[in-house]
Amino acid sequence: MFSVVSDFDRIRVERFKQCTEDKLRDVRCPEHNQPPRLRFQGTTLRDVSISLSGCCAKVMEIANARIGSVWLGEAEKTKAS
Ligand SMILES: [Zn+2]
Repeated sequence: MFSVVSDFDRIRVERFKQCTEDKLRDVRCPEHNQPPRLRFQGTTLRDVSISLSGCCAKVMEIANARIGSVWLGEAEKTKAS
């Protein structure tokens, strides 16, 4: 499967991934002291998705809350431009 992705999309996706990773950099489970693991799928902002895994529900909850604020920030930027 071959698909063409514009540089614009690629750069925005890279920025989004970076932003998400930054947000989760200092996230640790309060019980197990483990960081959540993050995987990205998709090559454009439209189809990019995040899969999270972690040691327990607690760390997933914290990570989701952080990521939620990234998604909102990205949506606001899109609206403004
Ligand atoms: Zn845990």
